[in-house]
Parts: sequence; C-alpha cells; structure tokens
Amino acid sequence: MSLPPFEYLAPTTTADLAGLLATHRDKCRVLAGGTDLVNWMAEKIYRPDYVIDLRKLPLSGIRYEPGRGLTIGAATTIEAIERSPEIRRFYLALAQAAGQIGSPQIRAMATIGGNCCNASPCADMPPPLVTLEARVVLTSTRGSRELAIEEFITGNRQTAIQPDEFLECVRVPDPWPHSACRYSPFGLRAAQEIDIASVAVNVAVDPATGAVSKARIAMGAVAPFAMRAPQAEAQLVGKKPTSDVIDEIAIQCGRECRPIDDLRASASYRRHIVGVLARRMLRDAVAAIA
Ligand SMILES: Cc1cc2nc3c(=O)[nH]c(=O)nc-3n(C[C@H](O)[C@H](O)[C@H](O)COP(=O)(O)OP(=O)(O)OC[C@H]3O[C@@H](n4cnc5c(N)ncnc54)[C@H](O)[C@@H]3O)c2cc1C
Repeated sequence: MSLPPFEYLAPTTTADLAGLLATHRDKCRVLAGGTDLVNWMAEKIYRPDYVIDLRKLPLSGIRYEPGRGLTIGAATTIEAIERSPEIRRFYLALAQAAGQIGSPQIRAMATIGGNCCNASPCADMPPPLVTLEARVVLTSTRGSRELAIEEFITGNRQTAIQPDEFLECVRVPDPWPHSACRYSPFGLRAAQEIDIASVAVNVAVDPATGAVSKARIAMGAVAPFAMRAPQAEAQLVGKKPTSDVIDEIAIQCGRECRPIDDLRASASYRRHIVGVLARRMLRDAVAAIA
C-alpha cells in the first residue's frame, strides 16, 4: 500500500510547530511515532497535504519532582515510559500499561501523545492516566491550555484538540499518600492483541483506620473511552478493603461498564472480564499499600 503524496515538514522549535499548525490546520497531520498515522495514510483514511514530524522537537522526556508530580513530554516513547525507574516506582500502572502495548518494535516508536490523540477505546494508556488524575497540555499560537484527560478524550477516536493545537505534555500529580495504582488488560493473545477489556485502579488507604480514603477505577475497551466506575469508587471509599468488599466492588465495576458485542467478545463476557480484572487489580494495589 503506497502513501498518498504529502509535503514533509520537520520544525525544530515548538513556536515553529505552532505556526505551521496555525497555517495549515485541517490540511496537516502531526507525525509522532507514526504507528497509527502511517497505517491510516496507507489505507487512505487520511490524505494530509502536510505531515509535520515532531521528532526534531524538544517534546520527549520524563521528569518527576516530588511535590510537583510527573511530566511526560508528548513525544516520549512508550518504551521509555515502560522502563522509567521513576514511573515504575511511583506510577506503576503507567509502566504496566506501556509494557502491554504492541511489541518491542511498536513500543520503541509509539508515543504517549499518539496514544492519547488516537483516542481508541482500546488504547492502553488512558485508563491508568484517568485513575492518576492526569492532565494534558495543549499548545497553539494562542497559548497553552490544560485539560483533564477525561475532558480531552471525548469519544471513540474523538478528542477536544483543535486543528491548530498540539499536545505538548501529560502531567500527573504526585501520588496520593499511602496509595498504589495497578493496570491490567485482557486480550485473546499474549502480544499484538486488541484488548477485550482493561482495568486500572488507584487506591489510597488511611493508615490510622485501615479504610480506603480515595479510589479511582477506570475501565478500557468497554465504552467509547476509558470510563470511570463512580458507584464502585464511592462504595469502596470509607470501607476496609477486605476480600469480601473487593469482590463486591469488582461485581459493581462489571455492572457499570458499557460494553458492546463485537467479533472479539460479547458484552456479557466483557462485563465478566472487567469484574475479574477489577478484583485482581484491587487486591494487588491493596497488598502493595499494606
Ligand atoms: C501492530 C500494532 C500494535 C498496536 N498495539 C497497541 C496496543 O497494544 N495498545 C495500544 O494502546 N495501542 C496499540 N497500537 C496503536 C499505536 O501504536 C498507539 O496508539 C501509539 O501510542 C500511537 O503513537 P504514535 O506516536 O505512533 O502516534 P502517530 O501514529 O504518530 O499519531 C497518532 C495520531 O495522533 C496524532 N498525534 C500524535 N502526537 C500528537 C501530538 N503531540 N499532538 C497532536 N497530535 C498528535 C497524529 O496526528 C495522529 O492523528 C498498535 C499499533 C500497531 C500498528
């Protein structure tokens, strides 16, 4: 499959990138790792006149500062996230999600910005980002604005990004005290699969009472975007996370998701898998805090 003709642009400053986006708007596409975009262009889903490569820009890197949290440049590769010692230590769910994406070759090319902007319901990075209260920074010649990841991904392959904006970085606040986060997808194969369902959890426990003080649970591939389970979260907060409580919460997650039947799985099987993953992730997270 050949690519449609386009002009290749490689700005070296973010100001130049913003200028190019302001000029070419809908006629251009940003290229990060290209693991989605090049396929879409080969399939003629997109025929941009201009392709703007991010790779000469200072948009990659991982910075963790205690008290200020984590900043991940949009062009940071999934492989770098999987391997980052800070992410593995303080935000394990992000490293777990990164480690599940595609294959080593895909992870070496694919970026966090591409994974968020792609906004696939099955994408692996959004569920843990939702549970960690991540925010994205969108930049254009008009300045920068920050949105919660839940406001940014608005539907199946839909985001709030404007044609003249680029995603500059993802910010994640400091981990909650006495907390742990976990992520697991489930697919039909061990690698190169599209998730049937996934679950991310982030739980904090009050050391004085042993009760859950904060909880966020997000489910992937069971709605048009990574969706939270607000009733399950509310049910968990204030309770000691015993096995019985976790079992109840897991069942509630299965009730709250909104899966569809498709060729990979039925909706009822997806609900069951969400329950299984929620139970495992909550148990793992709680055990890590204890
Ligand atoms: C074989 C294979 C297996 C895969 N497996 C998985 C998987 O297991 N899990 C998963 O989640 N995904 C998977 N993917 C999808 C893909 O690899 C990821 O979504 C990846 O993170 C996309 O990142 P990228 O840098 O390659 O994006 P690109 O292809 O470069 O871009 C994707 C889209 O985002 C836009 N974009 C990228 N960066 C920015 C930015 N900074 N600002 C504005 N717009 C931007 C582009 O214009 C384009 O529309 C797979 C893909 C392939 C080909």
